Amino acid sequence: MIEEKLIIIGNGPAGCTAAVYAARAGLKPRIFAGDHPCGLLALTSEVENFPGFPNGISGFDLVMAIQEQAEKFGAETDYDTVTEIVFNQDGGHLITVSDGRVFRTRALIIATGATPRKLGVPGEDRLWGRGVSACATCDGAFFKDVPVVVAGGGDSAMEEAIFLTRFASHVHLVHRRDTFRASAIMVERAMKNDKITFHLNSVVEEISGTSEVESVRITDKISGDPTIIEAKGFFAALGHVPATELFKNSGVATDETGYIITANDSSATNIPGVFAAGDCMDNRYRQAIVAAGNGARAALDAEKYLA
Ligand code: NDP
Repeated sequence: MIEEKLIIIGNGPAGCTAAVYAARAGLKPRIFAGDHPCGLLALTSEVENFPGFPNGISGFDLVMAIQEQAEKFGAETDYDTVTEIVFNQDGGHLITVSDGRVFRTRALIIATGATPRKLGVPGEDRLWGRGVSACATCDGAFFKDVPVVVAGGGDSAMEEAIFLTRFASHVHLVHRRDTFRASAIMVERAMKNDKITFHLNSVVEEISGTSEVESVRITDKISGDPTIIEAKGFFAALGHVPATELFKNSGVATDETGYIITANDSSATNIPGVFAAGDCMDNRYRQAIVAAGNGARAALDAEKYLA
């Protein structure tokens, strides 16, 4: 059994910022990076709205810089995955990780982020990794000179569609409405791009292909007309769901969609000594800067709790 004062689960902007604050307070936090080191931001090509970077910065570089800053003050990053958590109301939460080690920590910050949402249509799971992806930054280069489909109407969909035009011969953007969640500037950029065709008021019905994606069937919701789009890639840009599966039945309170519930005026959860920050508890703003701010709050709350 390894004793810790503070464990932080997740090394996205929330977890790493919490680690900077906690480390500077002398708490020597241990951060578990888990299966998706650096969180969702690592999948974003360019972050243009994080204050302090007028020329933008890659999501991965941004998170690595915050992590390095935390490590400079004594935080330790552990690349194992947390597999089990047992909360104790009187403190001393037990955390088991993938290599079998067990930690007991007095305080815990949950900053596990979110994972990409799936459509749930036939072919999506079967062809996942065989043309179906949720990350244009990671997989876009595999689709050189072939047509691809992007589904969604948010900033991610616009960003992915624009990014994919670097490689693909053509990008079909399919969105279920004719208005967008995406910011006007992103929609305008995508609409100005000759390599992007918008299919609005359209739903994806099926992704087909024998061993790889070959086509995507969509239906126009107004006319009811089906269209088969020949495509080698399908990118789901449908938003995210909180990565809180690990905490199911653990006793930590979540809402009906899985977001961790925190107090109105702090980052405290319903369990003493357990705090939450970032996209796992924020279904409203979901911005790196907000996650980082939440991380700072969680560290300050944990510091106060430990004192
Ligand atoms: P959003 O939740 O903003 O958008 C998700 C999109 O997917 C919506 O258009 C939604 O449609 C659609 N969708 C969801 N479920 C389904 C479904 N089952 N079938 C069909 N369509 C579906 O997520 P994003 O990932 O785009 O953005 C998340 C946050 O990150 C936002 O705050 C965004 O501003 C930010 N962001 C910022 C970037 C930047 O500034 N560079 C880049 C990327 C993201 P509907 O609209 O009809 O609900």
